[in-house]
Amino acid sequence: MKGNEILALLDEPACEHNRKQKSGCSAPKPGGTVGGCAFDGAQITLMPVADVAHLVHGPIGCVGSSWDNRGSCSSGPNINRLGFTTDLSEQDVIMGRGERRLFHAVRHIVSHYQPAAVFVYNTCVPATEGDDLNAVCAAASVAMKLPVIAIDAAGFYGSKNLGNRIAGEVMLNQVMGQREPAPWPQSSAGGFRHHDICLTGEFNIAGEFWNVLPLLDELGIRVLCTLAGDARFAEIQTMHRAEVNMLVCSRALINVARQMEQRWQIPWFEGSFYGIREMSASLRQIARLLKDEDLQQRTERLIAREEAALELELAPWRERLRGRKVLLYTGGVKSWSVVSALQDLGITVVATGTRKSTEEDKQRIRQLMGDEALMLEEGNARLLLDTLYRFGADMMIAGGRNMYTAYKARLPFLDINQEREHAFAGYRGMVEMARQLCLTLESPVWRQVHSTAPWHE
Ligand code: SF4
Repeated sequence: MKGNEILALLDEPACEHNRKQKSGCSAPKPGGTVGGCAFDGAQITLMPVADVAHLVHGPIGCVGSSWDNRGSCSSGPNINRLGFTTDLSEQDVIMGRGERRLFHAVRHIVSHYQPAAVFVYNTCVPATEGDDLNAVCAAASVAMKLPVIAIDAAGFYGSKNLGNRIAGEVMLNQVMGQREPAPWPQSSAGGFRHHDICLTGEFNIAGEFWNVLPLLDELGIRVLCTLAGDARFAEIQTMHRAEVNMLVCSRALINVARQMEQRWQIPWFEGSFYGIREMSASLRQIARLLKDEDLQQRTERLIAREEAALELELAPWRERLRGRKVLLYTGGVKSWSVVSALQDLGITVVATGTRKSTEEDKQRIRQLMGDEALMLEEGNARLLLDTLYRFGADMMIAGGRNMYTAYKARLPFLDINQEREHAFAGYRGMVEMARQLCLTLESPVWRQVHSTAPWHE
């Protein structure tokens, strides 16, 4: 990837950070890959595409340390769960055999696994060596009669966020717009207009999007593609036909949403499926942008029905969670959308993390928690624990890397990031969230670890 292309991606006009920082939102600087390099960002963005083989061109360490680290679920094929790499060795580098190994690796994958396409990820070693990824992929594509797409996001290009954008850019330029969606099935003609939408930055963690999909189905809204949770290659090709695009993870693929609007006039908005208020607001916004009055009325009826049913179901959980306080440390869109979900359960959030949040995310946090909201830019263990003790919080809700901070301090902990195993999105996800919070807070283990050991008594 050329330097000017990287600079163009960093200078994303739709990103709030650009208004604050002269150099764009994620200019590479020493240490910029701590927490994920560009390759890692590109890989986690596209890895959930389930019928594609994801081949990492580089030493085995690149794929070994990052493979399958996101809990995205697929309703069909699972080729994406297989870790493919060209496993470059010192000898390959010295002898200049990288390109040849790559071509053979693609041929092996295609003949043994029959994927819908192969995504080839560049990494630091072949990028430094100068392997021509695009040329090898083009040759392999012709030879194998299958799309072989180069994702040139080597680790040293920049941060994980840059990798997200490079992956999105490749989908825009090389995949979208190449196929027409299937016509609506006759049997689904329910007497009302049907619509096609797409979701960008929805990763279907723990299958949570399946809490939302039946409601969209009921409204006659077809999801052409979610980029990239439970996605198929052919679905990404049809995304240009969406009437509305919902951006679910705000920073990761904002360039995709903006450019889809520019190229195909697809309006987009940023929304979330976490929490009752946000879930209902997202359904309303989709219906409003689709400019269909009948749909808007049906959406209101569906929201009223679901919220009423949920209130009844949540009542006993709310009773158990009354008066609880939590410290939330997560990033991006979750920094406010999970606050909203927790507040919907009657929980007080004493502070929230904003390390990867945009100015818009922070604005939403202030709307939810007030102008005095405590936002943590950094989340080292000492700061998190001090904040938690200062405000008397009952538990920590954060990503997996903070788990041991909480456990060593003998505090309840709930994983909210991509590795989690529980589906929290949609109305149904609220019940699961309440259940998991209660199970964590009320576990008898906390009483035991805080009591004196019998041999000390
Ligand atoms: S791509 Fe580079 S920075 Fe990323 S894991 Fe591989 S060697 Fe490390």
